[in-house]
Amino acid sequence: MPLGMNSMTLRIDYDMLLMLFGLLTLPISNIYKQLTITRLIPIIFFKETTWDSPIRQMWDRVRKYNLTELLTNMIVNGIYLTKGSWKRFIKLEVNDKQRAIYRTTCNTYRRHDVCLNICDVKDGATGPLRPCVWWTLAKMKPELLTQCKTMMRLATDSHDFRVKNDGINSTCFLCDMFEIETLDHFLFSCTNFSDERIKLAKILDKYSSNGLTDNKNIIFNFNGNVTYSDMAGISNIIHVMYIKRAKLISQYAGN
Ligand SMILES: [Zn+2]
Repeated sequence: MPLGMNSMTLRIDYDMLLMLFGLLTLPISNIYKQLTITRLIPIIFFKETTWDSPIRQMWDRVRKYNLTELLTNMIVNGIYLTKGSWKRFIKLEVNDKQRAIYRTTCNTYRRHDVCLNICDVKDGATGPLRPCVWWTLAKMKPELLTQCKTMMRLATDSHDFRVKNDGINSTCFLCDMFEIETLDHFLFSCTNFSDERIKLAKILDKYSSNGLTDNKNIIFNFNGNVTYSDMAGISNIIHVMYIKRAKLISQYAGN
């Protein structure tokens, strides 16, 4: 299982569960199997709190993922899943745990709310964690890496729009609309980007004519229904807008 979006801790959990299964499914005559069973019996059946041995650490992972009953039955009956089924099973368990951790973090810290749109942690999401669509696009087309970084920055509220300032300092000073410079202002209102917006509309129209009405959802592909070639087109336009904005700011500041 590649590390991907899983933390090191959960990757270690996966390796330990796999190792324990490997030991338990050795032939009964194997000394390592005998030793594992001998050590496990007091831990499972007598709740023995011995030293923090490697076998004990493995069994702690079994408990952590609520696999005690399943594995105890396998040991007692001597009927094991195939190695492939066990691998698939624990991969799902570890991924679900990671998703639950991400979800809790996103819900606990309001600043991370934005990540709920872009990460595979939405309610109802199950199975292996899928990487963000912009990461996938950058992997497929490395020449779009910079554009994808810009898209990620905007999608996760990691930009430097003036909305993060207080009072009058939050107003966009690049146009004369006297609007707060939010992501929406940048994408849909600021008069400096009218030309780019015409090009963008050509792509967005394809989706809005199919009933998708939230342009921000389409631009960042929050719902995963925009094609990779349109994502490439969108990211090129937005990236040009973002660079243009930076140039306008430096001209304004006289740099
Ligand atoms: Zn503006």
